[in-house]
Amino acid sequence: MNMRILAGPLAAACLLLASGAVSAHDHGAMAFDPMAPVYVVAERGTFQAALRDFSGQVSPRRDALGRQLVLAGMREHQLEDLSRHVHEVERRCGGYFAFATRAEAEAFVASDASLRGFRAALPAYAIEHQGMVNGWLPQVSEPAIRATIQHLSTAWPNRYYASSHGHAAPLWIRDQWLSLAAGRSDVSAELFTACNNCGGQPSVILTIQGTDLADEIVVLGGHLDSISNSGSGDHMNAPGADDDASGIATLTEVLRIAMVEGYRPRRTVMFMAYSAEEVGLRGSRAIAQRFAAEGRNVVGVLQMDMTNYRSPGSTSDIRVMTDNSNPQLVQFLKDLFDAYLAPLGYTRSDSSCGYACSDHASWTQAGFPAAMYDEGPFFPLLHTTNDTLDRLGGNAQHATIIARLGLAFMGELGREAKARLQPPPPITPPSGDSRLRRPTLPPRP
Ligand SMILES: [Zn+2]
Ligand SMILES: [Zn+2]
Repeated sequence: MNMRILAGPLAAACLLLASGAVSAHDHGAMAFDPMAPVYVVAERGTFQAALRDFSGQVSPRRDALGRQLVLAGMREHQLEDLSRHVHEVERRCGGYFAFATRAEAEAFVASDASLRGFRAALPAYAIEHQGMVNGWLPQVSEPAIRATIQHLSTAWPNRYYASSHGHAAPLWIRDQWLSLAAGRSDVSAELFTACNNCGGQPSVILTIQGTDLADEIVVLGGHLDSISNSGSGDHMNAPGADDDASGIATLTEVLRIAMVEGYRPRRTVMFMAYSAEEVGLRGSRAIAQRFAAEGRNVVGVLQMDMTNYRSPGSTSDIRVMTDNSNPQLVQFLKDLFDAYLAPLGYTRSDSSCGYACSDHASWTQAGFPAAMYDEGPFFPLLHTTNDTLDRLGGNAQHATIIARLGLAFMGELGREAKARLQPPPPITPPSGDSRLRRPTLPPRP
């Protein structure tokens, strides 16, 4: 395949732009400019293989681990070539970080805190809430996960960051998550919009306020956007059922059970649906950078990117990603699996996914401990019009495994406050009670 060929509609738009016939590509609600400059940080080998004849400004760089990177100035439409190479040749998601300005890209490389992310002095990760977690696991509902995947992958033609659909989907996710919280006063949700290259697509953050350890933050996240090789803007056909409606649906199921159970964490637990992951991990990077700048204490991040494809050739049920991750947290993910899923007959193995492969890399680069479970060997229909629930077998059975792991992660790392909430929740704490103070939330837009 010739990686230098542009997708049809986008190529046409570029030609029109070049001739001055239109001022911007029509993306419905969004003005998306395929000729806009974008600055990419990628692994050198990936970049060279994807864009061999690239003639723009390419500067060699190294990250904190000594990996050979490039920082390259290019045009937005050229990201398609880069993405396609990562997806179709390297057979993975993500693959690079993208920035609106060279200065931001330079600052990103210069501020690489990956070593801190790998070596962070962490709280002891322990498994000591078996009673609570084992009570949750049987509640995982395949139909509930399936219904969310179905909605996210069919309600709109795509969830592309630069489309009107991609702006509607996060609102639905926020409302869905808030409805599960059923008015709990210690649960709030917001749209995170402080991202200058997310095309206006917000990320969604739902916060369960911690009690006595509220300053310590536990994050469970996945990306809400989708992308495909067919069409562009509002007309892109990108159902993204596995990538990553499955991750959002899995998170939603973890949250549903937490709320049904009246779970009150000692630490603050945040659920995040990241914007614009498919075009350079933009939403998660903006959040992680913001949290780093504010000195937030994030004690663990779990990434869910694709949870529902079971490869016929797979010899294990799930994998734990070992790169871009904090080794101590990776071990904790394995320990959680061994404590909660292995006794049910499930098996695990290790895997790796390369530079900037998903949103946990944003957290690692910002100096926070992050890690990821993986559904198993590569889903071959990733980033195509065929990433549909039907092609995943028409059910969400496989995702129930990572949903259970998500519950274990939340319960063990979020820990358990002495009293669980009973609906309706108590909302009249004595004033000055530090256990119920509000966390410092990101500024609202
Ligand atoms: Zn993807
Ligand atoms: Zn993905």
